Amino acid sequence: MDYDIVIVGAGPAGLSFARSLADSGLNIALIEKQPEAQLAAPEFDGRDIALTHLSVRILKELGIWARFKASDRPAIKEARVLDGKSPYSLNFDVKKEPLEELGYLVSNHVIRKALFDEIRTIDNISMLFDLAVTALATDNRMASTTLSDGRVLKSRLVIAADSRFSALRRMAGISASMHDFGRVCIVCRMEHQRRHNSVAFECFDYGRTLAVLPLSGHQSSIVLTAPMDQRDAFMNMDSDEFGRDIRQRFNSRYGEMTLTTRRFAYPLVGVHATTFYARRFALVGDAAVGMHPVTAHGYNLGLSGANILATEITKAVAEERDIGASALLERYSRKHMRTTKPMYHGTNEIVKFFTDDRLPARLARKVALRLANNVPPLKNAIRRKLTQTAEVGGLVPSFSGSK
Ligand SMILES: Cc1cc2nc3c(=O)[nH]c(=O)nc-3n(C[C@H](O)[C@H](O)[C@H](O)COP(=O)(O)OP(=O)(O)OC[C@H]3O[C@@H](n4cnc5c(N)ncnc54)[C@H](O)[C@@H]3O)c2cc1C
Repeated sequence: MDYDIVIVGAGPAGLSFARSLADSGLNIALIEKQPEAQLAAPEFDGRDIALTHLSVRILKELGIWARFKASDRPAIKEARVLDGKSPYSLNFDVKKEPLEELGYLVSNHVIRKALFDEIRTIDNISMLFDLAVTALATDNRMASTTLSDGRVLKSRLVIAADSRFSALRRMAGISASMHDFGRVCIVCRMEHQRRHNSVAFECFDYGRTLAVLPLSGHQSSIVLTAPMDQRDAFMNMDSDEFGRDIRQRFNSRYGEMTLTTRRFAYPLVGVHATTFYARRFALVGDAAVGMHPVTAHGYNLGLSGANILATEITKAVAEERDIGASALLERYSRKHMRTTKPMYHGTNEIVKFFTDDRLPARLARKVALRLANNVPPLKNAIRRKLTQTAEVGGLVPSFSGSK
């Protein structure tokens, strides 16, 4: 064997998974198609990732959390969900909890950089850059991964962490259900006149949604979703006009708003693989499940899934069992899917429910927000989902996910 494990994709999921196995003694290769310089100094990509308490716990255990400066991990202390122009909101806070925060926001490029810097210090993980995978073959004994430079790497297990449009997933013959929302997500950062007091807002406006998430100082992360045919209008809008548009959409809560970064556009496509494993092969991160960002589950799920798989592999190493055995991979797939399936489908239903502009749906939304606010067991269940550290959860409430 050239390696025990070959991981394809050095995004946040692939890097986190590799880091989880640093102490296993396994010989690991991480293949990435981007050049090294891009991974060593990743640029801001507009994504400020909302992290749950479980993700923070995992990142602390991996030694990654300590790499973030305090100003790079602002806390969310309260979350409010609004519908249309109504001032009524569904509120979540931590006033009755021993905790002080609902969650934290860390920029995607900061997470990637911290993980990359950490992985660089680990002897048993080799990173191979500027290379894509062109073919994959597995048999009962091993997996063979062919790289774009013609090399063939033999390993006991291959892990695909190569994004929601995973080429490896297809090579392994795993099907996935995809949902194209026909919408686009536009993200950027804005500075504003008034303080945000660490409150996160999710506003379901007719036809569009707007999230305003608190960063350090008078800055917020803006996440606007709109029908795809409005993409160019928002991306090309003059920055002063864009500032005015967001300010008005946000009912001037923070006064004047000014763009401080470029705008980035992400087409909204949700993906869920039908299984997370094949012979000597498994999926992690978005390659397993790629979520609509509205419930902020994506990387949180990626981290918890990687943690489940790494725990199974570490146990197998300790007991001198085969780390690529189907029984092990099946256990991972089953455990992770127990969480991902309800979250994926629940999130898609929430998106449908909150973006349906017909009158009955608008009325139902008003009832749903009041119901969730005034039924303590329901609200407590959602709050628990946000703050628990032992199981997975997303930050912005997922009603069905909290059942
Ligand atoms: C607008 C937006 C907001 C979001 N907000 C949140 C949030 O608040 N909370 C949250 O938890 N999640 C959030 N997410 C989701 C989160 O960004 C993703 O879940 C996460 O980035 C997925 O990481 P990944 O490593 O699986 O995939 P990716 O980040 O897609 O990385 C895949 C890597 O694999 C490499 N690669 C691809 N193909 C190959 C190949 N064939 N060979 C070699 N390398 C390859 C790529 O170059 C890349 O480096 C958000 C997403 C978006 C779009």
